[in-house]
Amino acid sequence: MEVYVDNNATTKVDEDVLNVMLPYLKENFANPSSLYEAGKQTRKAINEARNSVAKMLNAEDKEIIFTSSATESNVTAIMSAARNSNGKKRIITSKMEHASILETMNYLETQGFDIIYLDVDDKGRINIKDLEKAINKDTFLIAIMLANNELGNIYPIKEFCEIAHKHNILFHCDCTQAVGKIKVDVKDLGVDTLSFSGHKIHAPKGVAALYIKEGTPYTPLIFGHQENNHRGGTENVPYIVGLGKAAEKIVEDNFQSTAKVKELRDYFEEQIKSKIDNIHIYGDIDNRIPNTSNIAFLNANGNELAIILEASNINLSNGSACNTTEPKPSDVLVACQANLKEYYPIRVSFDTNNTKEQVDYFINKLTLNVNMLRRKNNGNSN
Ligand code: PMP
Repeated sequence: MEVYVDNNATTKVDEDVLNVMLPYLKENFANPSSLYEAGKQTRKAINEARNSVAKMLNAEDKEIIFTSSATESNVTAIMSAARNSNGKKRIITSKMEHASILETMNYLETQGFDIIYLDVDDKGRINIKDLEKAINKDTFLIAIMLANNELGNIYPIKEFCEIAHKHNILFHCDCTQAVGKIKVDVKDLGVDTLSFSGHKIHAPKGVAALYIKEGTPYTPLIFGHQENNHRGGTENVPYIVGLGKAAEKIVEDNFQSTAKVKELRDYFEEQIKSKIDNIHIYGDIDNRIPNTSNIAFLNANGNELAIILEASNINLSNGSACNTTEPKPSDVLVACQANLKEYYPIRVSFDTNNTKEQVDYFINKLTLNVNMLRRKNNGNSN
């Protein structure tokens, strides 16, 4: 049996998504900027996809631009805010953000910007008072994610936005791990810019979107006439069409499959708790996206477990920043002051493609291997 439980890293392309893309890789290849009929057809396909994405986010069509990745969307939003800051220098972000946000902040720091990285508690939560305290007259942007990729934590973005807007500060929100898993409504959240990526919602890698609320000051990252002068480069029509279909399916599904995924995740955690002692689940347990479990076992290191489980065709992520021979713990776990010596986690992220049979197989292999590692390490339990 093969078990893929690394869906926060990427998801499998949906069959319906693939099928709507294929004609645009074959016969419907015209450049959407071409004025003849075939070009008009591909232009129409892009606009329909834009409408599907806008509907999913409760946005206006003209507020959506297509990009190559959530990385590009994040960098575009932050650089645009920085270029329109009117001399202001402070940006507030959190230690839980994705590298695409943090590395842009690192770059801006070298350019004289003043970046505040909010700390988190041991569950990875951000204290709203810390956010309020970090705001000064020089602050022009706050960038905090809706859901964290490693722990699954959901942050109270609506409240954060209200604080930002009270002080005339723009709010950017990375929603890459939230879209498709929980409701993401730009009007309800109140964000000024928002990003998400196709490959986390069963569209292919290499396509994503950026929401820019009407009226938000904007300077492109990539200049050119496409996307209403907001993002240059001939549009990736087949992938944009695929992203539109993925968005449509999320709206149609109305989170029914997500409820199923949550049942699987909760079943997994309950079973593991009943079979293995001395475990720790990282994150804000009662306030997580429904598919994620960042779970650790005393005296059974997550790095070792991930390697051993791969031999049983189970693919998941460990708690490392990268998969080198000497794994370095992720910044997120470090920020939570995780006890990594004793509890080094694996990250399990389920999806609609997972079945109960797969989860039972996984539970069985995980239990066997935790016990095996504990014996090997002379663990004092089980
Ligand atoms: N933000 C978050 C929270 C993510 O999890 C990821 C992908 N791991 C990204 C941004 C970047 O997405 P992309 O791969 O489309 O650049």
